Amino acid sequence: MQSSKLTQTLSFGLNIDTGSADDLQTGCIESRRIRNETNRLDRQGWDWKELKSIVVDNANHVKNTSQLIVDKALGEIKTYHDNKDDGWGRPYPYINGMYPMVMNHKEGYRLFLEDDDTVRFRISAAPRNHVKGELRGSPDHFDRVRTALENDDWRVGTAEVVYKHDEWRLHVTVTHKNHRVTSKNDADTIIGVDVNEDCIALAAMNRDGSVMDSVVIEYPEIKEQRHEFFTKRKRMQKAGQTAFESVVQTEERDYIHDCLHKVSRRVVEWVSQFNDPVIVFEDLKDMRDSIDYGTRMNRRLHSLPFAALRDMVSYKAAWNSIPSDDVDPEYTSQRCPCTECQHTSRSNRSKKRFKCRQCGFQDHADRKAAVCVVQKWLKKQDGNVPSLETLPRVWKVRWAASGRGGATDSHGPVLGSGVYRHGMSAQDSQSRVREELKSVASAVLD
Ligand SMILES: [Zn+2]
Repeated sequence: MQSSKLTQTLSFGLNIDTGSADDLQTGCIESRRIRNETNRLDRQGWDWKELKSIVVDNANHVKNTSQLIVDKALGEIKTYHDNKDDGWGRPYPYINGMYPMVMNHKEGYRLFLEDDDTVRFRISAAPRNHVKGELRGSPDHFDRVRTALENDDWRVGTAEVVYKHDEWRLHVTVTHKNHRVTSKNDADTIIGVDVNEDCIALAAMNRDGSVMDSVVIEYPEIKEQRHEFFTKRKRMQKAGQTAFESVVQTEERDYIHDCLHKVSRRVVEWVSQFNDPVIVFEDLKDMRDSIDYGTRMNRRLHSLPFAALRDMVSYKAAWNSIPSDDVDPEYTSQRCPCTECQHTSRSNRSKKRFKCRQCGFQDHADRKAAVCVVQKWLKKQDGNVPSLETLPRVWKVRWAASGRGGATDSHGPVLGSGVYRHGMSAQDSQSRVREELKSVASAVLD
């Protein structure tokens, strides 16, 4: 069975205090020149070894950085050659946009753990031109980069400087030296995931297209709390109480962080019961860069849990050797999953209910979206989608937070009304929840 090392990419904003954003831009323009030169010489039929040595010698970057940029450009050409029979296009010989600076830790860039709350960076935008400052990012990514810097089992690897969403960012890879993750190609069970503001839907399917089980974990509390925090902060802004605002921000950030951790643990527990699973998400890569808490929170109020929850689930899954993958999210919520129908229309969906306007198929809208995610993955992997058998009953499980910092909440778990209490043992709670949720489940389908 194939496997690969446990590697994560962490994304940070840059608060620059020495040097400037212009230096980073100059560095990325030089990257682009290196990339374009590599493509030009490749087209002229140069031997790659020779090509690399001449391009690196003429580049205005730390030598190791130039080598990595050439490797990245050659990698793109290699991918094209490997896939050209499937209709992949050749990389453009000349690009106008930015090209990332790719750097090795302790060569082209370096991270320093200053204290519990501060990680500083030094980036060589050119030889002897250092840009320095502090990293900025989600608490989760901070936890991981801190672990990687402190712990011998981890290695801080290459990083890329990129310009995205109107700002300069650093994407850092960290790798666990021994831990390995199973290859997704060997998966027997495909778990489709549909993340929403108020719930996460999971559908477990095997390779012949039948749905083995599914669950919708609801967390209306998180949505409500976020709206509450949002209103609270807006009120403070209006009243000019800016000092209190940051307190609320921290409180909110910790609360959300804590909730998402608990929900993601539940998800991975559920996934772990299946044989060789792979977890498949909708590709929301661009959203990953927008998980900055704090001031940007307002604008991102609705998008935040998608990226953060997804990130935490795949991280915890990787620790259980379970791989994750992505598919293109287009139409997963609108398309009919019946293989012979596949009617795609916005009007098929009405809130939590899916009803195909063409063939009349009905289902819980989010569970159906999770099924469509698996179908897309099967299509990507095997080239076709096996026909959909009868869907099992939808299990709805309500997740309730137990108050901040793990303390038991005053209103506590309400099992009688189908609330999933996260403090219970998995087996115990699962059977009880099933019993209690039957009525809820049939109500959904009828
Ligand atoms: Zn249909």
